[in-house]
Amino acid sequence: MSFFRELGLAEPILHALETKGYTEPTPIQRQSIPALLEGRDLLGIAQTGTGKTAAFALPSLHRLAANPQPRKPASCRMLVLSPTRELAAQIAENIAAYAKNLRLVVDCVFGGVPVGKQARRLVPGVDILVATPGRLLDLIDQRALTLGRVEIFVLDEADQMMDLGFIHALKRVANLLPKERQSLFFSATMPKAIADLGKQFINNPVRVEVAPQSTTADRVDQFVTFVNQSEKQALLTLRIRAMLADKTIDKALVFTRTKHGADRVVRHLSSAQISARAIHGNKSQAQRTAALDAFRQGSCPILVATDIAARGIDVTGVSHVFNFELPNVPEQYVHRIGRTARAGADGVAISFCAPDEKAYLKDIERLTDVKLMPLSLPDNFLTEASRLPAPSRKPEEAAQDARREERDARGRSGAGARGPRGGNGGNGGGGRSHGGMAQGRDGRPRDPNPRNTADPRNNERRDERGPVRNPVHADRAAPTGDRAPRPEGDRDSQQRVARPRGPNAVGAHRNKVRRAV
Ligand code: AMP
Repeated sequence: MSFFRELGLAEPILHALETKGYTEPTPIQRQSIPALLEGRDLLGIAQTGTGKTAAFALPSLHRLAANPQPRKPASCRMLVLSPTRELAAQIAENIAAYAKNLRLVVDCVFGGVPVGKQARRLVPGVDILVATPGRLLDLIDQRALTLGRVEIFVLDEADQMMDLGFIHALKRVANLLPKERQSLFFSATMPKAIADLGKQFINNPVRVEVAPQSTTADRVDQFVTFVNQSEKQALLTLRIRAMLADKTIDKALVFTRTKHGADRVVRHLSSAQISARAIHGNKSQAQRTAALDAFRQGSCPILVATDIAARGIDVTGVSHVFNFELPNVPEQYVHRIGRTARAGADGVAISFCAPDEKAYLKDIERLTDVKLMPLSLPDNFLTEASRLPAPSRKPEEAAQDARREERDARGRSGAGARGPRGGNGGNGGGGRSHGGMAQGRDGRPRDPNPRNTADPRNNERRDERGPVRNPVHADRAAPTGDRAPRPEGDRDSQQRVARPRGPNAVGAHRNKVRRAV
C-alpha cells in the first residue's frame, strides 16, 4: 500500500484499493502511474492480466477528482475505447470500484443492446465513459454524445481493434477529440501498423513495456498433446472429467476456432454431464452475460469460447486453458494462455495439435521461443473414449463431423503431415511425441504425466501393460517421446522448454503437473 500512498493518490482512491486488497503495484502500475499523474501521454505494451486497467484508471481518477468540473450534457471527461463488449463492461466495473468513494459517474456503452437507454443515460453527461467503437459512433451520430470535452482518452487493445476492422472508426474518433488532452495507447503487440496508428493519438509518450513483445506468460506451464482432430473431443471430455473429479481444475477456458465448433464442444461435454457454456458472437448479449456470470461464480466451471469473445475476459481463478484447436495466428496463442496465470497466479495451458496443425505449433514455438511439453494421451484412451455417450446431433452437424473425419483419415495416410500452409508441418517424427521428452533444469527428463513420474507404482503399472501400441495410432511414429526419456543432456533445440520458475522449480512443477493432468 505504501507505494500507492507515496505516489500521493487521493485518499478515497487509497481506500478503494484497500477494499480491493491491493497491497503492491504490478510492474505496469509501478512504471505508468507516476508519469500519468504528471499528465504525460503513454504508450503501453502490455497484455490484459497485468493490472493495466488500474495502471491507467488510478492516475486518471486522481486527476479528474483533483480538478472537479460540473457534468455537461451529452459529454464525458474521460473516454476509454475497448474492442469488445465483455472487456468494456469489465473495465467499467473495475473503474467504478476504484472510483467508488469519489463523486464521479462511470458509464459503459456497447453494441448488441438497445441504444435508446444508453442515449438517455448520457443526457446529463457522465465523467467517465467506456465504449466499444461502433456504439460510440452510433451515439455520436444520434447526437447523444460529443467528444469535445474529453480530457483523458484511453485506447485499449489497439491490436485487437485493428484485427476487428475498427481502423476507420478509430480515425474518425481521433478527428473528433480535442487537441488538448492526455492520451494513453495500449496494445499487447506493437507491429509497425499499430505503432503508426498510435502516432495519431499520442504525443511524446512515455513508453512502458511490461513483458517483452510476443513473450508467453511466464507462469503458465504449457503442454501439447498430438491427437487426430476426430479424437480431440473425446480427449477433452476425458481430461476435463478426470480433472474435475480430482479437483485439479478450478475453472477452465476452452478455445475453439469457430462458433459452431464451440457449440459442438459444449454439446459433447454436456452429454458427459459436464457443465459447460459457450460464449461467441452468435450468442445474444444476455446469453453471453449469463454464461460469463455462471463461469465467474463457479456454477459452470467450463467456458468454451472463440478468440474474439474471450479477448480480455478477466475471470480470476482460471486454472486451465485448453486449445482445442491451435490458432492460426501465433499471437493469438499468447492472448489465449494469458487468460490463465493472471495477477500472480499459476496456470496450465494444454494444446491439442492435429497432424495438419503442426505448422501452427511451429509458428507458436518460434514466436514465443518456448517449446511446449508433450503430454501423452491418457491410458486406455480408446477404450475410455468409446464409452463416452454420443450427443444428439443435427443431420448437418453429423455430415460436418463425417467430413472432418474423412479429412483426418486423408491426413493420416499421407507421408508426413503437411502443414496448413503447405510446408512440411512436422516437427520431426510426425508422431504424437514432440521430438522426445522435455528435460528439467537438472537434466532429468520431465514427464508432465504424474502417472509416469511421481508415483513409482505407476511405473510398475506401465511395465505390466508392456509396450502397447495403440492400433488406431499405428500411423504414428513409435511413441518414443512421451514415455522414453531422452539421453542425458540431449536437447534438440536451443529453445526454452516451458518450465516453472522459482527456487523449488522441480517440486513446484510436480505439484502443478498434478493439477494439470
Ligand atoms: P487487468 O490487467 O487490468 O485486467 O487486471 C487483471 C487483474 O489483476 C484484475 O482482476 C485486477 O483486479 C487485478 N489487479 C490489478 N492490480 C492489482 C494489484 N496491484 N494487486 C492485486 N491485484 C491487482
